[in-house]
Amino acid sequence: MKEPFITKEKAAEIIKKFPTPFHIYDEKGIRKNAENLKKAFSWNKGFKEYFAVKATPNPFLIKILREYGCGCDCSSKTELMLSKAIGAVGNDIMFSSNDTPADEFKYCNDLGGIINLDDITHISAVEKACGSLPKKMSCRYNPGGIFKISNGIMDNPGDAKYGMTEEQIFSAFKIMKEKGVEEFGIHSFLCSNTVTNEYYPLLAKVLFELAVKLKNTLDVNIKFINLSGGVGIPYKPEQKPNDIFEIGNGVHKVFDKILVPAGMQDVAIYTEMGRFMLGPYGALVTTAINEKHTHKEYIGVDACAVNLMRPAMYGAYHHITVLGKEKQECVNKYDITGSLCENNDKFAIDRMLPKIDMGDILYIHDTGAHGFSMGYNYNGKLKSAEILLHPDGSFELIRRAETPKDYFATFDCFDIYNSLING
Ligand SMILES: *Cc1c(COP(=O)(O)O)cnc(C)c1O
Repeated sequence: MKEPFITKEKAAEIIKKFPTPFHIYDEKGIRKNAENLKKAFSWNKGFKEYFAVKATPNPFLIKILREYGCGCDCSSKTELMLSKAIGAVGNDIMFSSNDTPADEFKYCNDLGGIINLDDITHISAVEKACGSLPKKMSCRYNPGGIFKISNGIMDNPGDAKYGMTEEQIFSAFKIMKEKGVEEFGIHSFLCSNTVTNEYYPLLAKVLFELAVKLKNTLDVNIKFINLSGGVGIPYKPEQKPNDIFEIGNGVHKVFDKILVPAGMQDVAIYTEMGRFMLGPYGALVTTAINEKHTHKEYIGVDACAVNLMRPAMYGAYHHITVLGKEKQECVNKYDITGSLCENNDKFAIDRMLPKIDMGDILYIHDTGAHGFSMGYNYNGKLKSAEILLHPDGSFELIRRAETPKDYFATFDCFDIYNSLING
């Protein structure tokens, strides 16, 4: 059973102030989860989570995570700017970018952030952009091939655009050491949304073994190993959630087996999770505004793929609860649609739900990461507000909804601007 973190009554109270659609975030859940993560890796002295800003780039939410020691994982200039604005600079920034413009390396370096190189050619790019290489740097590793766990293939790193080959990472570390880098990190992201406790420990084994080889071959000082993101959440009701304590223990065991005997017990473990940190603690709240009975049964809501792109983009499953009808039987088969002129603008296809009446409030689960942030403005649709639900039940606007003025803002240097915004 997947349960909403708000009731129909609470939703109605919020809607009086802020009309649907909106994304709402559960502060209580966010805090509990961040605390558990910290505990699960407390065996590692240097442990640090760098929240993947792209997942939910809202400063008010990331500030909550900062209270639990989280830094920011960025991959663009605006993400770096957001981090800076909330005081995350220096070692609180991990810049895990790819296809990076030179000026962004410079901007990151000016903030003192850690640059995580996606490619060996970026060594000279950083050197050129920043004058010299920073003392502390990281490289992203891609082992190629396919990545397997006990119950099958997880993903296909050989097809992924990210990271360096093993040969390249050895060359890169050698060059970087010669050019004055003193502290090194290794990073790898092999699979997305893994709903298994095995992923991090398996990845850790790959990276720890590589770290020992790099240290023994090149005598480099490896300070941290970054397991990146990819820890998933159960979008479907039948999935079993990851147990972060089991994951932490699993990594600990591999650490003791591989790094400790190599004299590398001081290596810090870093993570860059986005989805796991916020995914389950956000929901898209939307109202049923149209129904249509043609070759299928359609319910049209006031949100669309602009507010949550994952179903349209990946055919991703997001569970839906009709608020106030939690106990009713799911006897109707619906397509739940948005209003875009795109047939893939469907939050659910052939979904069994209770009978939906116009005005019903639909709660679309697990939109706390890669939800709002993937939004776009197709069909001139506007992005929604974001609201934070505090542990005491009070709520607060943490991003206002877009207005036509925002949509037309980039015409503000043209004469037509006034006609555009005056409706
Ligand atoms: C997207 C991304 C993450 C976060 O991934 P999740 O699946 O949300 O945990 C972390 N690091 C990098 C480099 C990414 O691109």
